[in-house]
Amino acid sequence: MRFVPWSLVSSWHCSQCGLCCIQYDVVLKFPEWLRIVKNFGVEYTAPSISCFFLRRKANGSCVFLLKTPRDSYCSLQDLKPQACKMWPFKILDKPKYGKAKHAAYDSWKQRLYIYLDQACTGIRYGIPTKDFSHSVLPEFVELALGVRRKQHRSTSMLHPPILGGNL
Ligand code: SF4
Ligand code: SF4
Repeated sequence: MRFVPWSLVSSWHCSQCGLCCIQYDVVLKFPEWLRIVKNFGVEYTAPSISCFFLRRKANGSCVFLLKTPRDSYCSLQDLKPQACKMWPFKILDKPKYGKAKHAAYDSWKQRLYIYLDQACTGIRYGIPTKDFSHSVLPEFVELALGVRRKQHRSTSMLHPPILGGNL
């Protein structure tokens, strides 16, 4: 994985390419696992020695990914695990991926260091736009600090055409 500090990013918008829902395992916190089991069934999760993951389909994609010929949709929406909500942002209290000056972000609460995973196809590079730094970024910070649950700018605006995961 390669990371870019937020201040070298002009904007971010989910283009619904679906790449992140195909290439990565999603680790579940225990309450997230419980919510998914209660709403969908244990078969939508997969255990490992130390934690639970979202189950993957035979083709490797997340069990909750819905694909149309044009777009990809998450059928979990409001029940999405935190790891999915935060992607492709890493919001940390230390500059773990370097370039501290460019990654520093002073939230109302504390100094943070913010990076984006460059695998995401929704990143545009350059000087941060006002919309990115004043609207998109603060929403990710609120999600990371636990003062927000609902996504607005931190996800695709589009909802899936059909609700429900496909095994
Ligand atoms: S978050 Fe990025 S990688 Fe994931 S679907 Fe959206 S554009 Fe693609
Ligand atoms: S829960 Fe949704 S966002 Fe997370 S990997 Fe599955 S389809 Fe993608």
